Amino acid sequence: MKKIKKFIFVFLLLASTLGSYAQTQEISKMISFHEQELKPIKKEIQASIESQQKNLISISDAIWEAAETSLVEFTSSKLLKDYARSNGFEVTENVADIPTAFMAKYGSGKPVIGILGEFDANAGISQKRQPTKEPRVPGGAGHGCGHNLFGTASLGAAVAIKEQIEKGTFKGTVIFYGTPAEETIFAKVWMVREGVFDQLDICMDWHPGDSNISGTETSKALVDYRVMFYGDTSHASADPWNGNSAVDAMELYTTGLNYYREHILPTSRIHYQIEAAGDVVNVVPDYAKIWTRLRGNSVENVNVLYERALNIAEAASLMTGTKYETKLISGIYEILVNRTGAQVMQNNMETIGEITYSENEIKYANTILKETGKPQVGIDGSVVPMQPTLAATGGSTDVGDVSQVVPTVRMSATIASKGGPWHSWAVVACSGMSIGHKGMIYAAKALSMTMADFYKSPKLVEAVKEDFKKNKKIKEYVPRILPGPPSLD
Ligand SMILES: [Zn+2]
Repeated sequence: MKKIKKFIFVFLLLASTLGSYAQTQEISKMISFHEQELKPIKKEIQASIESQQKNLISISDAIWEAAETSLVEFTSSKLLKDYARSNGFEVTENVADIPTAFMAKYGSGKPVIGILGEFDANAGISQKRQPTKEPRVPGGAGHGCGHNLFGTASLGAAVAIKEQIEKGTFKGTVIFYGTPAEETIFAKVWMVREGVFDQLDICMDWHPGDSNISGTETSKALVDYRVMFYGDTSHASADPWNGNSAVDAMELYTTGLNYYREHILPTSRIHYQIEAAGDVVNVVPDYAKIWTRLRGNSVENVNVLYERALNIAEAASLMTGTKYETKLISGIYEILVNRTGAQVMQNNMETIGEITYSENEIKYANTILKETGKPQVGIDGSVVPMQPTLAATGGSTDVGDVSQVVPTVRMSATIASKGGPWHSWAVVACSGMSIGHKGMIYAAKALSMTMADFYKSPKLVEAVKEDFKKNKKIKEYVPRILPGPPSLD
């Protein structure tokens, strides 16, 4: 019996390896079919990105300086809209009732290829353009996820494609999506619900990182919600029997969550942030508010966690004689990886080759690493070979929702020191100077060259769509958000 099992396992492993090998060969054939014809066009596309370089750097630096957080990215959004308009794109504002969300479209007909661009900053991590920690604006926000480079590179790629459509080399449509509020709220979920991605054949995406890697990684699904507990005030010493503490309820709620932690899958995560917990020590508090985030490797797993956590909130209120209320903030899906698209991306990344850095840039990166107590390994400009798709190990992104409704092709480009802390001053210090700029230009090239493959090869577009259909596990996509536009409270 054991032998049979082993045989079946080896057979399945062999079959899947051979299957993916055959698929890889098939895609390589499709790419090479247009390779000669595309070579001079891809050269022109790279030249377009280089000629835009000055503009792209000044836009990304202006967004870096504005450092606007989720839903209030007015200056950043306008900078990108203005550049799109000046390049002949037709701009639709206020997408999904979000003032900073927009679409910029050029061309007509099929294929319709979209590209995502984020531009929000992280609160509280303002930093000067220097490798030692010092805020530019004390208490201010900073681009600790490199979104100033993200939106700008994607728009630069869209402009390079637009030039080819204008010349008649490509037929079809290109749409840049200005997608705000990725750091909190996850505005793309509202845009997906609005149906703005439904017209796409393929959606392109990238994210700043510390390596150049094609998008074969998935992400965690999550749900964000608040629990409010309502108690009754009284004197904490003179008549505590007349009071019911909302903070007691909240403490029992978090205790319940922390006991539950032992029994969740090792891939799941529970986080919370206490937002209100009484004001003074001598009054029994009648109000407490807490933000909870539950993550899992699939939306189904998140549903299991969510159901239990809501029961824990109810139990905490019963135990303390308080009332409670829950309010959904938003939820996001895991990324559906498109390996066919990732292989086309890999091919282009290898064609561009690695990013090289000056001695000063390496010294700058190493100073940051020294300051943050990390090994001084500099910056990694090499291209990582194609990776297998493993279970999600990192964070979450609202690109997950986009990837559930349209095939999404992704990559990551180096914009910071290797292994430095993310969402921190260490990334802000890099995203507003030459190390960040180099990653942005690299991403713009890789994205537009990959789009070129899709515009020239309907077969490749079909293969990417087939991959999407084959791997889609979720039968019906239901956005986990409340009616109406997103809000900060
Ligand atoms: Zn990010």
